[in-house]
Amino acid sequence: MNLILFGPPAAGKGTQAKRLVAERGMVHLSTGDMLRAARTSGSELGKRVAAIMDAGSLVSDDVVIDLIEERLAEAEAAGGAIFDGFPRTVAQAEALDQMLTRRGQGIDRVVRLKVDDEALLSRIAKRFEAEGRADDNPESFKTRLAAYNTQTAPLLPFYRGQGKLMEVDGMAPVEAVAKSIDAALQEEAA
Ligand code: AMP
Repeated sequence: MNLILFGPPAAGKGTQAKRLVAERGMVHLSTGDMLRAARTSGSELGKRVAAIMDAGSLVSDDVVIDLIEERLAEAEAAGGAIFDGFPRTVAQAEALDQMLTRRGQGIDRVVRLKVDDEALLSRIAKRFEAEGRADDNPESFKTRLAAYNTQTAPLLPFYRGQGKLMEVDGMAPVEAVAKSIDAALQEEAA
């Protein structure tokens, strides 16, 4: 199964992806994690994207599409991928469809974690204090939220139109969200 965990930054996608990986043995493909790893390694790519990430803007589609493509064989061998933070634009979603189609696969489910902006802001303020991630500062976070609303949210009708979208209340406690996701994965997409 190929699953997209969809939602704004700090919606809880990473937490839920890690649990699903542990329980189902799928591969977690987080472009944010891949880009942060590139920065830590000091690679050219890492240097190129650092300022864009810290400002809270999106890096170019080509960069993240390539990162994902490099990992698709591994995901296929493991029985599926959990895409987290990708796709974030219509161009990325179209590229993902094409890459999977070439491999005789597709996206099976898109689970949207719904969390209101106020809750996101309070979560991120706490995370900034605890972890000090540069792009969690209030200014960058505003940019990230705006990028989500203008560039990523338009994917919702794209996946709804394909009959793959399911919505889950992401404001509930972590365990309750996990249960809702599991239930959603059992159901037929709306
Ligand atoms: P995340 O950890 O998913 O919130 O990603 C952190 C940052 O990495 C984002 O704010 C972007 O700068 C960059 N990034 C991650 N995934 C993507 C993507 N799919 N498209 C463009 N930029 C991305």
